[in-house]
Amino acid sequence: MIKFSEDQLMIMDLAREIAEENIKPLASKYDQEEKFPWESVKQLQELGFMGMMVEEEYDGTGLDTICYALAMEEISKACASTGVTMSVNNSLYAYPVQKYGTAEQKEEFLRPIVSKKIGAFALSESDAGSDPASMRTTALKNKDGYVINGSKMWITNGGVADNFIVFAKTDSQKGHKGISAFIMNKDDKGLKIGAEEKKLGIKASSTTPLSFDECLIPENRLLGDLGEGFKIAMNTLNGGRIGIASQAIGIGQAAIESAKKYMVERHAFGGPIAKFQGLQFMMADSVMEIEAAKALTLKAASMKDRGERFVKEAAMAKLYSSEAAVRAADRSLQIHGGAGYSKDFPVERYWRDAKITAIYEGTSEILRVVIARETLGRY
Ligand SMILES: Cc1cc2nc3c(=O)[nH]c(=O)nc-3n(C[C@H](O)[C@H](O)[C@H](O)COP(=O)(O)OP(=O)(O)OC[C@H]3O[C@@H](n4cnc5c(N)ncnc54)[C@H](O)[C@@H]3O)c2cc1C
Repeated sequence: MIKFSEDQLMIMDLAREIAEENIKPLASKYDQEEKFPWESVKQLQELGFMGMMVEEEYDGTGLDTICYALAMEEISKACASTGVTMSVNNSLYAYPVQKYGTAEQKEEFLRPIVSKKIGAFALSESDAGSDPASMRTTALKNKDGYVINGSKMWITNGGVADNFIVFAKTDSQKGHKGISAFIMNKDDKGLKIGAEEKKLGIKASSTTPLSFDECLIPENRLLGDLGEGFKIAMNTLNGGRIGIASQAIGIGQAAIESAKKYMVERHAFGGPIAKFQGLQFMMADSVMEIEAAKALTLKAASMKDRGERFVKEAAMAKLYSSEAAVRAADRSLQIHGGAGYSKDFPVERYWRDAKITAIYEGTSEILRVVIARETLGRY
């Protein structure tokens, strides 16, 4: 296991403290009311957790990916909806603006994202999820800038974001090389933010569609080079997968802790249900799998921090962690018996929240495609 630095231990402790004391007590209420967890997110903004890897020059905390993974795990253990809000802001919005933005763009669109504003990443469309290169949204250049037409689907933070990174086709003849990335403001004329989606889990997070109707934005909102959008999206999602793997680990850990408590407190056949080997084996499998998930995730995070290629490692971390979290939540619900099926216990929320980690930022199937491609190389 990695030996953590003082900074990493400090961030983990801080995240654990705020998650346990301030975020966890609100999680169930926000989930049941399907309300965005503003109170929790504002605390993350105050601590700089919404822009953990943003350079200090732009008011960020300039921390490494391991710090981010550790914090994501603690926050998601308390509230997975708050976790995904934090993850999208850090990995899917701040990262590409920092990496590909001009100094002028960073001043306007990165600096405020750490503690004042919220960002979103708009790649998916109703008919283009796993295959984003088939997107239909277009951005056509005219003398005043780019005119965007089309729509996006499933945009996390959609209803609360101030800024969006939007991917659109600037040249429909060039396939994925004809896609470009743009930064948009929520009040850009012609941009409409749709109604909140009704979801199975992460119900407190905001997820909306977007539509663009002759939406004119100035030329200086192009992020990176013309035609570089697909590359930006894929690089961004690689890093994002470390955040979602950490979210899954946090949910898995919460499910394990809940099961542990219940196994000791609940009695059947004259003693605590913890004495039943069948349940002990479920617990053992969950503990082992979540620990393995953490090792894969921290490996991917440390490779990213060292500047090494981490595409395969991030895909393995996200795939394994999400599936381990789904299994851990399912076993925990089973261990709770009828109580697990009730909203009086948080385990039904963990069960619902775990599933999304195997779907967004690359489904399990797409990640298997990535791992196989990275392993086989050209043949
Ligand atoms: C709550 C939520 C939040 C989201 N947030 C965002 C966001 O912030 N920004 C954003 O851009 N998107 C977001 N998404 C979209 C998400 O990334 C997509 O849903 C996901 O990529 C899958 O795309 P799809 O839903 O179109 O499924 P499809 O691509 O239609 O896939 C359907 C099934 O086919 C399988 N499949 C597809 N292609 C292959 C293949 N080549 N090999 C094997 N199996 C395959 C898939 O794995 C899946 O099982 C979010 C989605 C949800 C539900």
